[in-house]
Amino acid sequence: MPDEFAHLHVHGEKSITDGAGKFREYADRAARLGMPALAGTDHGNANDGRTLWEECNRVGVKPIIGSEIYLTPGTDRRDRTRVRWADGGEADVSGGGAYTHLTVLAGGPDGLRDLFELQHLSYTEGFYSKPRVDRDLLRMYGQDLIILSGCVGGELGTRLRLGQLDEADETAAWFAETFRGRYWIEVMSHGNPWETDLNEQLIALAKRHGLGTVLTNDVHYLDTLSAPTHRAMLCVQTQSTLARPAMSFGDGNYSLRPAREMDSLGLPKESSRNTLVVAEQIGSYDEVFEEGLQFPVARLPDEFEFAEDYLHARANAGLIQRRQGFPTEQDRRQLQYELETICNIPGAADYLLVEADIIEAVKAEGILVGPGRGSAGGSLVVYALGITDLDPVAHGGIFERFMNPNRLGMPDIDIDVQDDKRDRVIEIIRELYGDNNVVQFGTYLTFGAKGALGAAARVHGKTFEQGQAYARQLPEPKAGRPVDLADYTGLRDEVYDTAEGLFGRIRGQGVHPAAVGIAPPGYRVERSIPLRRPGGVGPLVTGYVDHVMEEYLVKYDFLGLRNLTIVANTLKFLKQRGVALTLPLLPGECNDRKTYEQLSEGYSLGCFQLDGTQMRRLLRRLKPSEFGDILALLALFRPGPMGADADDYYADRKNTNGGVWSDDWAIHPELGEALRPALEETYGLIVFQEQVLQVLNIICGWSYAEAALLFDAMRKKNIEKMDATRPNYEAAGLRRGYSAESLTALWEVLVPFADYSFNKAHSAGYGLVAYWTAYLKANHPVEYMAATLTSVSDDQDRLPEYLAECARMGLRILPPSINGGFGFSPGDGGIHYGLGAIKGVGASVYAGIEETRGTRPFSSLRDFFSRVDQRALSLGTLKALVASGALDTLCPRREELYVQQTELAARAIRWRAESAFGQRSLLEPTFPVWPRGMYSTTTRREWEQQYLGVALTTQPIELGTTRRVTQEELEWLRNVLSRNPGDSPVWLLIGGRKMSLPSANWPAIEAAIESVGIFDVSAP
Ligand SMILES: [Zn+2]
Ligand SMILES: [Zn+2]
Repeated sequence: MPDEFAHLHVHGEKSITDGAGKFREYADRAARLGMPALAGTDHGNANDGRTLWEECNRVGVKPIIGSEIYLTPGTDRRDRTRVRWADGGEADVSGGGAYTHLTVLAGGPDGLRDLFELQHLSYTEGFYSKPRVDRDLLRMYGQDLIILSGCVGGELGTRLRLGQLDEADETAAWFAETFRGRYWIEVMSHGNPWETDLNEQLIALAKRHGLGTVLTNDVHYLDTLSAPTHRAMLCVQTQSTLARPAMSFGDGNYSLRPAREMDSLGLPKESSRNTLVVAEQIGSYDEVFEEGLQFPVARLPDEFEFAEDYLHARANAGLIQRRQGFPTEQDRRQLQYELETICNIPGAADYLLVEADIIEAVKAEGILVGPGRGSAGGSLVVYALGITDLDPVAHGGIFERFMNPNRLGMPDIDIDVQDDKRDRVIEIIRELYGDNNVVQFGTYLTFGAKGALGAAARVHGKTFEQGQAYARQLPEPKAGRPVDLADYTGLRDEVYDTAEGLFGRIRGQGVHPAAVGIAPPGYRVERSIPLRRPGGVGPLVTGYVDHVMEEYLVKYDFLGLRNLTIVANTLKFLKQRGVALTLPLLPGECNDRKTYEQLSEGYSLGCFQLDGTQMRRLLRRLKPSEFGDILALLALFRPGPMGADADDYYADRKNTNGGVWSDDWAIHPELGEALRPALEETYGLIVFQEQVLQVLNIICGWSYAEAALLFDAMRKKNIEKMDATRPNYEAAGLRRGYSAESLTALWEVLVPFADYSFNKAHSAGYGLVAYWTAYLKANHPVEYMAATLTSVSDDQDRLPEYLAECARMGLRILPPSINGGFGFSPGDGGIHYGLGAIKGVGASVYAGIEETRGTRPFSSLRDFFSRVDQRALSLGTLKALVASGALDTLCPRREELYVQQTELAARAIRWRAESAFGQRSLLEPTFPVWPRGMYSTTTRREWEQQYLGVALTTQPIELGTTRRVTQEELEWLRNVLSRNPGDSPVWLLIGGRKMSLPSANWPAIEAAIESVGIFDVSAP
């Protein structure tokens, strides 16, 4: 009989770094072995439930969805105490006393929903080391669950191993009573000697309580061949090596064993047969998986019954506001047309209204939202609703690139927000729509080729360098496609074998960087989708990944963008000194000459999308002078257009003859004038997708909606569809008087360009952010670079690069300032290092300093010492503050403060007492004057190196040394001086003499330096 056993205890990949098999593989094997059913019981979750259901259905095996859950050791789920049943040894309660294991199977659709809800509660209420449930929850949600008593780490197993027979009986009795007819005693035999004794006890106990036994194998991998992969995985998890594993399953067989093997384990035949009895008890889950998509529901004002009506009203009002009260007739018609298209899609009106509400709430908190990205910038409705800030009329976006009335689908909008506020954005969404209705989509991280080799090398005890050597035998990734391990060119040794086993398997879980789902009111997400709440707090995360989630909830994308944080922080710095800036949103407003000059010189380091070396080269060639050039740059700077030399053509045509239209640019002489309106702005080149639609509109007379269909076929290289459309294209063109020859020429240009072309609406959104960053860098360099340095302060590669850029820009890097921020902050003629960078000043001390400072910067040493939090006055902290230069702004005599630390601390106590009693000495204290000549750059540099990791004080060259200044130094000096107004003195140390020189006197300085030698430049 082939069907005498079914596996009811199986760990897939969602038992992360413990289950080495995939349900796809398990299902295939179960079918091959002739097994009628297959259960999935991952640790603490049913995240692979849907996969199991699909894979089993595919091969005609009955799916059984379950979980090996964590049960509290008799305690309340909210109680976070560890419990010991004996002396705390190896055999005691698992997880250091936090939980026991229990195998739970969903009996049918209700059971499956209960299982999902249990998972949700185990995270939300029971999380302690693991997501846990307690007996109360089991009773409440157990009506349709089938319970197997669990593995050796189960409550029963633990009691029996500890010899606590009475307690074991109590456990069995409680479960037998609570789950009448649905509680089974689980027996396992993997080949471990101690299992025999345990099984005898379990069988005796089953008899005592009149319970059936069920034989399971604790399946952790597919077959015996994949056992080594599982061993390696456990070593990855426990960061140990195969030679000395920190956790091991021993030599037992934990694979999906055939029925005859299970039968030969010497356990009662009945326990094998009971697996089929259990499988019989399970109903179909289909209805849970066939619920269909749930649309978000917008909140409507009382006077509206339908979202569509409210959308109309709100979009119309928004348009009037956007157009300062006077929308054109064209605008009104376009809005109406878009609204009709949108309202033809079920749920789309709600979707957009919800998005608009969120963005309104986010902006109300002063969080910077990107102007728009993707094709959404082509929609006037989306603009009128305030979802994007891209005026499609001004920016040349086309609605049909966003939504095609000929092929309706839910709109897809991506929103960028400043990355340091993304968590707050999710919180705002939860506040608007309810914690349980807002879920972030989960992701799973898999071993890539490089990761697999690295992990394999580690578990084989290789050094990091040896691991790197393996990774070097992989080809470079091409066009963003991940590297296949099969392309490995090195020796195929045991490390490679292990890597092959790990490659493509899950090694961890994460959260999608953008995708959020919002369920309608009344929809119980936790009863349809397995959820988790990382660490037991914060937003819910789905156990399903995004493409599965798309069957359940409409996706909203909120992506954190670092550059928006930089812009927001720059604006904050500017506001602090009374400069209020409004960011430009229209092409015509992006016209600052200085910005384009800087870009044309290639000084774009730190600017969004314009930062790379290659891009800087292109900037210098192309010499952008208007906003359209930035758009073109973003569109051209990709392998396709560059491979076709489109960037060269653009640069040449723009910079020859003042960029005036030339007939030579025409795709075909006959088409030159006709296509000029569409292509003039890009010098006759097709750069943007929107232009393809315009060209087809002009030549064939097609609407954008019709043209978009052909465009999609071209872009997807759908030859069949292209061939089918070509006769229509030619017929339409001929009808409008174009020759067959010219139509062929155009077709041949269009096909590759459709592929290369870029979404203009997207370019416009990103172009604006790029322009903002370039504008701020050119016009407010101190504030902008301070914000930029802060954003890369943890990036060891980029920080030095940006610090060097500051030097090139003539911005001095100053020591941290007690009045500055945790990150870099603008100072007088330079940028202060962040207080957060000082070693020995923790975040809590900084928070204390910031709190006492409030909006009133410290004005003097006395002011600082009498107000500041006591923690900042510990000797260690004080020393760090002084030595790093953080108090320089209050008292530049750093060395004096340093030698008097103890006295200072004592004096501070007196000051505090005085200010507490309202007394005030009239005079600031005086310090003994530091002897002349004792000022030592060397000491300061040592201190800075020690406390900041970088020496900021410039090192003067030894007296008497002469050498010529390098070209680089000259350049740097020229910059410093040109950016220093004449009245803020620049000090030059020339030949041992310190000279204060006005910056205007550059030729003299140059001459001095060139003749004398070298120098130290510093501001006092
Ligand atoms: Zn277990
Ligand atoms: Zn297990």
